[in-house]
Amino acid sequence: MVIKDLEDYAKEYNIPIMLPDGIEFLVNYIKDNNIKNILEIGSAIGYSAIRMALVDSNIIIDTIERDQTRYNEAIKNIKAFDLDKQINIYNIDAFDYETNNQYDLIFIDAAKSQYIKFFEKFSNNLKPEGVIITDNLSFHGLVDNPELTHNRNTKQLVKKIKKYISYLENNTNYNTEFIKTGDGIAISKKKN
Ligand code: SAH
Ligand code: MG
Repeated sequence: MVIKDLEDYAKEYNIPIMLPDGIEFLVNYIKDNNIKNILEIGSAIGYSAIRMALVDSNIIIDTIERDQTRYNEAIKNIKAFDLDKQINIYNIDAFDYETNNQYDLIFIDAAKSQYIKFFEKFSNNLKPEGVIITDNLSFHGLVDNPELTHNRNTKQLVKKIKKYISYLENNTNYNTEFIKTGDGIAISKKKN
């Protein structure tokens, strides 16, 4: 199995894995900042976890996925890449997941309507020099151009993402940088 197989599977079954530019940005960020301990919220089929783990054999990732089918697929993929020593995946809702582990990076890539709650719940698990990265803040360009959708649920989600963006901008404990790559990424660093 190769990375391209995961990308093809995601396309075929409509699994919202990171966009090519976004994942490229993320793995380079991990490389450049010597990140070793990662918590990921939203594993889907394990694509981003596998890409991150392949950066360095000393990287350890805990990743959470509530959907049983995607979790099963992720388990299969992690084994196929021989990464079970580096990636621990949990089939649970992130809000039911409790840990005292401290991470260099917390990557939020799950239900967009819950971003503030994920951020607040897991910020206790961030090392002092750590960083929280959030994906999908452009939401296919809808955040900048909400008139592109007339779907009520989609409009609601756009509102929630905007709310999260101002939450980050106004959070005095963190410095947040917004990067317009992939589907829009935020990098929030704890102020010390
Ligand atoms: N990070 C993956 C893509 C994740 S897609 C990648 O780039 O390869 C988002 C996933 O988050 C979905 O599979 C969804 O089932 C999961 N998810 C959403 N809300 C969740 C929650 N509260 N707890 C755990 N998983 C959640
Ligand atoms: Mg995403």
